[in-house]
Formats: sequence, C-alpha cells, structure tokens
Amino acid sequence: MKIAVLRETRAGESRVAASPETVKKFAGLGAEVTVERGAGEASNFPDHLFQEVGAKIASSADQALADADLVLKVRAPEAGGFGNYRPGQRVAAIVNPHGSKDVIDSAAAAGVELYAMDLMPRITRAQSMDVLSSQSNLAGYKAVIDAAAYYGRAMPMMMTAAGTIAPAKVFIMGAGVAGLQAIATARRMGAVVSATDVRWAAKEQVESLGASFVTVDEAAMKVAETAGGYAKEMSDDFKRRQAEFVGKQIAKQNIVITTALIPGRQAPRLVTADMVRAMAPGSVIVDLAVEQGGNVELSRRGEVIDVGGVIIIGFENVPGRLAQDASNLYARNLFNFISAFVNKDTKAFDPDWNDDIIKGVALTRGGLIVHPLFAPAPSAASDQTAAE
Ligand code: NAD
Repeated sequence: MKIAVLRETRAGESRVAASPETVKKFAGLGAEVTVERGAGEASNFPDHLFQEVGAKIASSADQALADADLVLKVRAPEAGGFGNYRPGQRVAAIVNPHGSKDVIDSAAAAGVELYAMDLMPRITRAQSMDVLSSQSNLAGYKAVIDAAAYYGRAMPMMMTAAGTIAPAKVFIMGAGVAGLQAIATARRMGAVVSATDVRWAAKEQVESLGASFVTVDEAAMKVAETAGGYAKEMSDDFKRRQAEFVGKQIAKQNIVITTALIPGRQAPRLVTADMVRAMAPGSVIVDLAVEQGGNVELSRRGEVIDVGGVIIIGFENVPGRLAQDASNLYARNLFNFISAFVNKDTKAFDPDWNDDIIKGVALTRGGLIVHPLFAPAPSAASDQTAAE
C-alpha cells in the first residue's frame, strides 16, 4: 500500500493529513508513505520529522501522487483539481459534500474513489474516525480563547482590595461537540455560562458541565433530533419564539458563541442585527457557523468587525488556528479509518462495500457517484453496489 500525503493548496489551510505518529503507524502496517515537501510545515511538522519515521519526501504533488494507491488530504481537491490523479486512486479528505457538487462530479469524472471523512457515520465503532467531532472540539475551545482575547475585561470573578470584578456572562448557542467544549472552556476560565440547543439530549449534557440550560419549548425539543443525533429544522413558530427569547437573553450577555448547524442546510439564523445592537459595547460574539452561512446576521466570513462597540468574530477554519493539535487528531482519525480496512494478508487497503462506514463515506467509485445522498438517480448507486 503506497500512501501519498499532499501539501494543502487552499488558502489559509494550515493542517496536514498525517503526523509523524501516524506515518510511523502506517509503516507498521507495511505501508510506504510519501509526503510532499513542506506539507507539515504550518503544523510544525518539518519534513525531517516525517523522514525520521520512514517517509519519503516528494518534491511536488505530481511526484507524490505518481504511484500512490491512497491519497490523504485535509481538504478535497477543488473541482477540476483531479487532473493529476489516476483512475482508481483513492482519496480521503474533508469534502463538505453538501456544498461541493462540482467536486464530487469532478472526482467521478476522474475515476477517483473519493471518501468524505466528514460523512463518517456517528456509530460507536466509528467514533475514533469522526473528524467532525475531533475538529469541532478544538473549534469550541478556540472560540472561547478568541472571544477572551477580544474581550476587554476579565473572565473570572476577581476579589481585589480595590473591589470585586464580576465574572463574564457567556451564552453558548448550539450544544453539540463544539458548544459543549466551549461551555467547558468558559467554565474553566471562571465565566458564568448558559447554553441553548434544540435537542433534548443536550440539556443534561449542558447541565453536567455546570452551565444552565435555557429553552423556549421542551416539548418541541423532544422530537428535534434525527436518528443520527443531528438537529432537525425547527417549525416557524418555534423559530419565532426562540428569536424573541434569544433577543432578551443576549442583551444580558458579555460573550455569545454560536455553533448551531443543521447538516446539509444553511446554518440557522439565530442572532439578528437588532439583537447585536441591543448588546452592551465591549461584548463579543463568535460565529463558529460563519462558513455555513452564519448564525449571526452581521458576521462576515474571515473577518472581525465592530458593530457599535460589539465585536463579531467570523474566523474561518477555526480548528486550523490550532494547526498542530488539529492535524494530530485528524491524522489519527484517518489512520483509524484506513487501518480498519487494511487486509492483513495482502497489507492493502481493501474496503468492504457492505460496511456502513464505507457506505457512509464513499462518494465516488468507478466513474460514478455512489453515495445515496448525492447520486443523480438512486438506482445508479444500488446497481453499482450490487455489481460488486
Ligand atoms: P452540529 O455541528 O451539526 O450542530 C451543532 C449543534 O447545533 C447541535 O447540538 C444542534 O442540535 C444545534 N442546533 C441546530 N439548530 C439549532 C437551533 N436552531 N438553535 C440552537 N441549537 C441548534 O452537531 P454536532 O456537534 O456534530 O453533534 C450533534 C450530536 O451528535 C451531539 O449530540 C453529539 O454529542 C452527537 N455525536 C455523536 C457521536 C457518536 O455517537 N459517534 C459523535 C459525535 C457527536
């Protein structure tokens, strides 16, 4: 099994799809790993660290790709970016498939087998392969650190001879993986934390972290979760009542961190311009959903803006702001995925097309789009699977 680890080409992508630790583990499985020169630089993994554990260093992407069976990337190539790939080559990457039809088409046209790590099913067996969790966890932590950096006051309560400083009030909207980590981080920094979500299961998780849970409708929350553990789109009536309630809640907060997502859709709009204007100057909002359209009406992708003294942070690729940890965890997710399908005798990557993990992540195969969510006609996907 020959594995290529490419240098990321998207602007601002600081992560890398392998670490010295995982290269060593791949070598232990009998794989040969080639890393494109400089691929780990922005994650503080210089080439020599990869060489020391047995990787070859290629001077270009073309050279790394030349005889690779399996290509590891953080972000999938952009549409039209499969020109130097060979038919049959397998590529594992974060694809953002709901917003990347052109990339999926392009992978199919190139005959590449593309695996979307961000479609990993949320089943117990795949927890160690779950890139959304590993990356969201870091994003939730970093969102609080970013907010604290822009907040011109202290987070914890401080009792000094000159008087007492009140603790910051932090409100987290969306208590999934990122939100729960944001709650834990803000609590560790001494803030008073409240949170909201539309899923019933989130209430107990929020409270177990020492934050208070606030909601408009407990009955609606009990049916707001899909079988996969994600949120559903809520009714218009729920949204109206939520907006009314959020407006009042936000006006009292010093820091608001929004993390709410609905898979395959625009992020729900939770904070309007009027709500922002009702906050006190010096307050800080972090919109972690900015790349999916934003939870905050005024947030701008990749920018930090000031709206009447309220700072709105819209950093992109927040996990990449902790590049070394994000790369380490992502690389382990990839290793856990690949190694689960390495044939012990041939030592080759040998995916089981009846396995829910492969069926969950595989987008293209043999020139076709095979994933049921993205295949043009459902029969195309099932015919292809049946043919195997
Ligand atoms: P996500 O990133 O899709 O969404 C973030 C959060 O936003 C979710 O908690 C969602 O309920 C919430 N949200 C959506 N619309 C909202 C709205 N209008 N108002 C307020 N909140 C809203 O979700 P996620 O972080 O990936 O996690 C979703 C769930 O899956 C969590 O319960 C998590 O614990 C679970 N999970 C399970 C596994 C596993 O079993 N392997 C792995 C990871 C996560």
